[in-house]
Amino acid sequence: PRTPVNVTVTGAAGQIGYALLFRIASGQLLGQDTPVRLRLLEITPALSAAEGTAMELDDCAFPLLAGIDITDDPNVAFDGANVALLVGARPRTKGMERGDLLEANGGIFKPQGKAINDHAADDVKVLVVGNPANTNALIAQAAAPDVPAERFTAMTRLDHNRALSQLAKKTGSSVSEIRRLTIWGNHSATQYPDVFHAEIAGRNAAEVVDDEKWLADEFIPTVAKRGAAIIEARGASSAASAANAAVDHVFTWVNGTAEGDWTSMAVPSDGSYGVPEGLISSFPVTTADGSYSIVQGLEINEFSRARIDASVKELSEEREAVRALGLI
Ligand code: NDP
Repeated sequence: PRTPVNVTVTGAAGQIGYALLFRIASGQLLGQDTPVRLRLLEITPALSAAEGTAMELDDCAFPLLAGIDITDDPNVAFDGANVALLVGARPRTKGMERGDLLEANGGIFKPQGKAINDHAADDVKVLVVGNPANTNALIAQAAAPDVPAERFTAMTRLDHNRALSQLAKKTGSSVSEIRRLTIWGNHSATQYPDVFHAEIAGRNAAEVVDDEKWLADEFIPTVAKRGAAIIEARGASSAASAANAAVDHVFTWVNGTAEGDWTSMAVPSDGSYGVPEGLISSFPVTTADGSYSIVQGLEINEFSRARIDASVKELSEEREAVRALGLI
């Protein structure tokens, strides 16, 4: 049998963690031929809840689950980690300024980055889910100078999936007919879901939609504010769909994108499309053999340019803020 892959999940006792762990243990993260060992990191008061989730995992008798470790020590949690899913974060509470939020998260992601640097496996792949995800990823990356920078990514796959679903609904098509959709920028309200290079059953999606007003006034805000709409309807934030997107992100990174298609991942910019180098920003990416590349050479129209720039400006400001706080 193959050696188990170590998958570390932080915030394991949270809502997303609860939806995520069973998917990982059942083989959906890495495939049905790959056993996994789960390493759960939680803050001390949540360890007992994590133990409870581990009991339920045991009770599923997943054939691919090779073991579960639970700890409140990042140095233990990331020891030998091949995949690290950074889900736990400090939520924004009422009256909290952005600087306070970034500082609180710096206190989480800086030590985790260092623990990844010192203890993770050489092939570690990191996905940050906890918000503000792009900038939390930047903080962790800065604390891990010995890990190749491109291993630090943040999640915009949920935005991508939301955009796929909205576009399919509008055009009466199925999500499986849509290719080459892109989320650009920050995982925040400024993100830009771009249909201009997308295709629906081989036809250009913007032409199929043929309604710029719908794009600007309905589609983009619906995708960007979907999280708030779910809180409003469900009385709790999205968790299963966020967990699903995390599974999709890693699965695609490991197993590759389909020929002729791409996905959206927030990855360190190499300067492509005018995004300042080093910012962790969402791009269209293809993946193969466990690595990804930013899709090159797309023409960016004026409509898209303004929106990409606005989201990237926000990322630059977040980077300045964490720099000023000494977090990177
Ligand atoms: P959730 O599991 O619901 O969310 C976790 C993080 O994911 C939040 O930062 C949340 O951001 C973010 N997120 C990203 N995308 C989405 C999305 N589409 N929908 C919803 N959330 C999204 O939070 P819980 O409070 O239930 O659980 C967090 C757990 O993390 C707790 O158990 C806590 O103890 C733990 N924790 C662990 C740490 C550690 O391991 N060192 C450190 C800090 C916390 P947003 O807040 O913007 O919704």
